[in-house]
Amino acid sequence: MTQYDLIIVGAGPAGLFAATRVGRERRTVLVLEKMTDPGRKLLITGSGQCNLTHTGDIADFFGHYGKQGAFLKPALRHFSNTDLISSFTGLGVPLTGGDDGKIFPASRKAQDILDALNTECRKHGVAVRCGEAVTEIGRSGDGFSVKTAVGEYHSTLLLIATGGASYPATGSSGDGYAFATAFGHMIAEIAPALTPVTIREYPFQDLAGVSLQNCTVSLFKQGKKAGMFCGDLLLTHDGLSGPVILNASRYIVPGDEIRVSFLPEERREELVQTLTGCGGARVKTALTPFQLPERLLKRLIGLVGIPPEATCAHLTRASRNQLIQVLTCCLMTVGALGGYHIAMVTRGGVALDEVNRKTLGSRVTDGLFFAGEILDIDGDTGGYNLQAAFSTAALAADSLLIRLDTPGAE
Ligand SMILES: Cc1cc2nc3c(=O)[nH]c(=O)nc-3n(C[C@H](O)[C@H](O)[C@H](O)COP(=O)(O)OP(=O)(O)OC[C@H]3O[C@@H](n4cnc5c(N)ncnc54)[C@H](O)[C@@H]3O)c2cc1C
Repeated sequence: MTQYDLIIVGAGPAGLFAATRVGRERRTVLVLEKMTDPGRKLLITGSGQCNLTHTGDIADFFGHYGKQGAFLKPALRHFSNTDLISSFTGLGVPLTGGDDGKIFPASRKAQDILDALNTECRKHGVAVRCGEAVTEIGRSGDGFSVKTAVGEYHSTLLLIATGGASYPATGSSGDGYAFATAFGHMIAEIAPALTPVTIREYPFQDLAGVSLQNCTVSLFKQGKKAGMFCGDLLLTHDGLSGPVILNASRYIVPGDEIRVSFLPEERREELVQTLTGCGGARVKTALTPFQLPERLLKRLIGLVGIPPEATCAHLTRASRNQLIQVLTCCLMTVGALGGYHIAMVTRGGVALDEVNRKTLGSRVTDGLFFAGEILDIDGDTGGYNLQAAFSTAALAADSLLIRLDTPGAE
C-alpha cells in the first residue's frame, strides 16, 4: 500500500491537467485510468483536431453553459481561455484560431495536446497507472482508500475526474456518479447532450446529408418558447443534426417542439416581398436568391401542396403564407435524442449546490474534489467543454495545493 498526497481518478484532460499542476509543486500524485492509455476522448475531440477553446473575453463564456454558467465563473476567471492558450503555447504546442473563434493546435492534432500533458506528468513525477479501473473508494482515517483490480492505494486528498457517460468506448461510462453517490452526493439527472435528434413523422428522410448555413431553431416546451439557437443545420435520415441542433439538444427532451427557419431570420421580410411581387415567375425560380438546396426547396413547396410548376401568380394568399411558414417556421416534434454513443457530452452530473464553486471541494465529504464533465456542467460546441474541463481542473488543483499546504483550510 502506497500513500500519496493526491489520487486522481480518471486521466482525461481534467485529471491530467490537475495532476501536472499539483505534481509540479513536488506533491506525490497518482492518476488511475481505466483504459490502457490516457486521454482517449481527448484524442477524438474536434474530429481529432481538438477544438481546445474559443477566443473572446472570458465573460462571454458564461452564457455558453446555460444556468450552470454562474457556478463556473470562479473557475473560468481563475483559469481563463487566455491562460489555457498561454499554458499550451508555453508547453511547446502552438495554437491557431479560425474566423469562427475556435482555437485548435496549429498542427490540428489532438495528439499534440495529449502528448504535452503526458510529458508534463512525467516531468513532475506524476504516476499515471493505466488499465486500472477504480472499483471502490472509501474513507481511510483522515484520507481516502482507492481500490482497483490490481491494488489498493491511499491518499490524503482525492479528485474525481471520471468525465460523463457519453462515448463510453473511450472509458467515460459514468462510473464517477456511483463514487460520488457513495460519498453522499446527489446526481442531477443525466442525459445525452450535443447530440442529433430524431423527428416524429420526419418528412426529409431521403434528403439526408443536405446541410444549410445560418438557420434558426426555436425550442418550445408545452407550447411555450424555451430558447432560440442559430447556426448550421444538417438533415439526417431520421432527424436533424449540425451545430445549431447539437447546441439546442442540451435543453431538449423528447416530445418538445422545434420550429426551424431554413433561412436566416433577417431574410424573412425579403422572402415575403419576393413571393408577393414575383408575378409570372415560377415559385421555385423566384426563390433561387435564397440559395436553398434544390431538393429541399422542392420538398418544402410540395409539403404545402403547391404544384412543382406553379408560378407566384397562382399562389393564393393562404398558400403563400403556408410556404413562408414552412420556410421560416417549419414545425417538427422531437422523437428522441441521440444516445450516449453519439452524444459529445453528458448534461447533469454531480449536483452543483453540494460543491464549493470557489474551490471545487465537496461540501459533503472533506478532502474530496471534482473537476471536468463529472460535474453538472455542459457547454455549447466551440471549445467550451474543454475550457470547462481545464478551468475546473486548474481551480481544483490550486485548491488542493492550498489544502496540502494548510491542512484544514477550506
Ligand atoms: C466526439 C467528441 C468530440 C468532442 N470535441 C470537443 C471539442 O472539440 N472541444 C471541446 O471543448 N469539447 C469536445 N468534446 C467534449 C470533451 O471531450 C469533454 O467535455 C472532455 O473530454 C471532458 O474531460 P474530462 O477530463 O472531464 O473527462 P473525460 O475526457 O471523459 O475523461 C475521463 C477519464 O476518466 C476515466 N475513467 C472513467 N471511469 C474510471 C474509473 N472507474 N477508473 C479509472 N478511470 C476512469 C475514463 O477512461 C477517461 O479517460 C468532445 C466530445 C466527444 C465525445
